[in-house]
This record gives sequence, structure tokens and C-alpha cells, in this order.
Amino acid sequence: MKVLRSVWLTLALLIMTATGAAGWNGAAAAESGKVYQIGTDITFAPFEYQDASGKYVGIDMDLLDAIAKDQNFKYEVKPLGFNAAVQALESNQVDGVIAGMSITDERKQKFDFSQAYYDSGVSMAVRAGNDDIKSYEDLRGKKVAVKTGTQGYSFAESVASKYGFTIVPFDDSAQMYDDVKGGNSVATFDDHPVLAYGATQGNGLEVVDEIEMVKGGTYGFAVSKGQNQELLQMFNDGLTNLRNSGEYDRILEKYLGEGAQNAASQGTWALIQESLPPLLKGLGNTLLYTIMSLFFAFLLGLLFAFMKVGRSRLMRGIATVYVDLFRGIPLIVLAFFIYFGIPQAFGFTMPLFLAAILTLSLNAGAYVTEIIRGGIQSIDRGQMEAARSLGLPYRRAMIKIILPQAIRVMIPSFINQMVITLKDTSILSVIGLVELTQSGKIIIARTFESFTIWSVVMVMYLIVIIALTKLAERMERKVRHG
Ligand code: GLN
Repeated sequence: MKVLRSVWLTLALLIMTATGAAGWNGAAAAESGKVYQIGTDITFAPFEYQDASGKYVGIDMDLLDAIAKDQNFKYEVKPLGFNAAVQALESNQVDGVIAGMSITDERKQKFDFSQAYYDSGVSMAVRAGNDDIKSYEDLRGKKVAVKTGTQGYSFAESVASKYGFTIVPFDDSAQMYDDVKGGNSVATFDDHPVLAYGATQGNGLEVVDEIEMVKGGTYGFAVSKGQNQELLQMFNDGLTNLRNSGEYDRILEKYLGEGAQNAASQGTWALIQESLPPLLKGLGNTLLYTIMSLFFAFLLGLLFAFMKVGRSRLMRGIATVYVDLFRGIPLIVLAFFIYFGIPQAFGFTMPLFLAAILTLSLNAGAYVTEIIRGGIQSIDRGQMEAARSLGLPYRRAMIKIILPQAIRVMIPSFINQMVITLKDTSILSVIGLVELTQSGKIIIARTFESFTIWSVVMVMYLIVIIALTKLAERMERKVRHG
């Protein structure tokens, strides 16, 4: 009974923290009307990308902003990446998606689209200066980089066997371009306006003009089928107003016209200086999520470890199932399941931070359970027997005699787990958590400077992990001698 009570207590605590924060958001929203959550791509310049000051800009972002002002609604942008944004819309994790998203018959089965706002199509690009690839036939035996869930991907898939090339899937455009620049893939299929714009911004690729663009990718704003119809209506009305007032043309001109800014290439040092603030912010999130998850993992670990060393077979069974389950599921699969799977099945919205903390703490909790169980069981059985024979009840004997010794055994493993969980937060970038890794990705998406930014990100992880490990080791020495 006691154990059960603690299970509920832990869960309640987790839910309370979550709903507490969500309630806080909710209260703010109630005061000033609904804040629509809009999913978008991490980078799809000139439609959406982050500028140097960390603000999301581009044709889609400016249109959305102008439409929201015109129609008087509030929104929040979630840069999830294209595939994740579409999945998030499918599971109602966001209210709408604007991401240079093509209106296709297949997508119309699941989503309702606004009127089209931009005509596009798929082209092929290769590394700038590569003259070997002039037609699809030249791709035979080679690799082609594409972005998952996009029209470029579907097109590549539809002709891959005919022209005998292999598809290499990526989640965002910057990685895909890097793969082509690095020579692993010889070409990429992506939306024409994006490839053309990228080439002018120095992404190192060039569009193969000899190949005709595959037409049929007009962009629309999407909501889930039958849902958020008022938002769709406002988008359409706002768009019509922008078209009539000339604002629509002004926005396109701003990004595509003669006067559009070219990314000035800057020195490495200037790039690092400019990137530090967003990276540090990301690092702050990494630390926050690590600490919160470890806290819950510790509670879960305590609970299940005591169930495991306890006398009840049922409890031992439950704890074993917990450990086997969450140690056996890869973290990335668990994150997708919790963030996309569960909300879709049960029709509710799962806040990102709750999904992130659940994923990390359930996973780390399984390991912590084993650390604590191992620690307790490493203490000679005779000690418990001796304590009991001296008349100490089980609980007291555990707390006074066994645990103080066991904790010393456990400390190195705890430090290890802390380092692992901190690094594992980077996996949550796949569901759009803007921690250190995701912050790096977003900057590379704009600057195309993989080497510099990943170096800085690596050094930041190392500094924090080494500092934390040293601190923990100091504490360990104190515990041992104290
Ligand atoms: N227009 C393409 C699609 O809808 C690609 C969109 C994107 O990558 N953001 O599939």
C-alpha cells in the first residue's frame, strides 16, 4: 500500500508541475484570447529562417504576422522542422502549419488548406561547380539527399528505381545541403525558390538548370481537417486583405526582389560572438531539463528500487517490468511516442516540456532504479540480519545502517547517469525542444557554418560536463571522508 501511495505521489507531483506551468500559460491565454500554436520548418529560407538576432523571419513568417495583425489574433511559432511540424498538426499538437507546405491531394485527406499563396515546384541542385550531373540519368549508382516528409522526397522516391540512385533522408535542409557539399550525396531535390535563394546566400549549391522544375507545389497554410476553421477563415480573409493592400507584394519583394539582403559572409570570430547568446540560452534549457528530469528520475528510481529489493513478489514484478520497458526503448522512439503518438491516440495536446521531461525521467528512472538496487544489494546481507537481530525494525535498519553505506557505492554511478542524461537532452531536439543542439542546428540553418558551430556546441557540452563531474567528484570525496 505504501509503495502504491508513493507511486501516486510521484505521478501527482509530475502532473502538478506540468499542469501548473500549463495552467499558467492557460491563464495568460484566457486573459487575452487564444494563442494559436503554429508549427513551421527549422529552416526554409526565404520562407522561414532565424535571423542573427534570433527572430523567425521570411515570407511565411511575415505573411503570418501581417495576417494576425489584420485579423487580430495571437500566435506562437514552433520551429519543429517540416516533418515534425506536419506530424504535430496531425496529432493536434499545433493548431496550424505554415512551412512552404505544398497543397497536395494526399495531404487534403488529412488537412484543410487556405487559398494558395505561392507557386512553387521541385528542382535538383548539386555542389556549386559540379558539372558532372546534368540529368537524372547522371544520378545512376549515386546518392541523393532529401528531406523527410516533403514533396522533394516523394519525387525522389518515385524516380529512384528508374534512374538507379539511392535516397539519403534528412530532417532539415541544412544537413541535406551539407551532405551534398561534403560529396556524400551528389544531388538534392528541394523546392525551387528555396534552392535558388540558398545559392544566392552562399549555401554552396547550384540549381541544375538543364532539368525542368517539377511543377505543382503551391503553398498553403494548413489546419487539421475540420478543426480550427475560424483560424483558417481568418488566414484566408487576412491574405485577401494583404493582397488588396499591396502588403503581400511588399513582403515578397522584401525577400525576393533586387534589394533583398545578401548574407554577408563574416569572419569566424564574429560568427561565434553572434551565436553565443542563442547557444547559451539553449545551454540553459539543456541544464534545466537535465536537472528536472534527474529529480523525477531519482524519485522513480527510489520507488522502483525499493519495490525491487522488497518482499512483495507483485511489487518486484512491477518494478522489473518498468526497468525492462524503459531501458529497452530507445530514447528517440520514446520521445516520438510520447509527443506524437499518445496525443494522437487520445486526442489531447501534450505540452512539449512535459513530453521532454517524461521521456528523460522515465528513461533515466530505469537506470537509477538499477543503481539504487545494486547499491543496496552490494551491502552484505549479514548487516541487515545483525541490525534486525539487535531489534531494529526493517525500515530503521535500512535507513540507518544499509543506506548510508549503499549511497557511497552509488555515487559514481549517479555521476555517470547525470552525464548521460545531460547528453541525452540533445535527442529531444527531434521533437523541437530548443536546447543546445537544436540552437546549433538553427544557427547552421541560417549561416551554413557547420564546422564552427558544431565545434562551439561540442566545447560547450564538454565544459559543462567536465565542470559538473569535477564538482560531483569533490562532493563524493566529502561523503567518503566525512
Ligand atoms: N513544399 C515542400 C512540401 O510541402 C517542402 C516544404 C518544406 O520542406 N518546408 O513538401
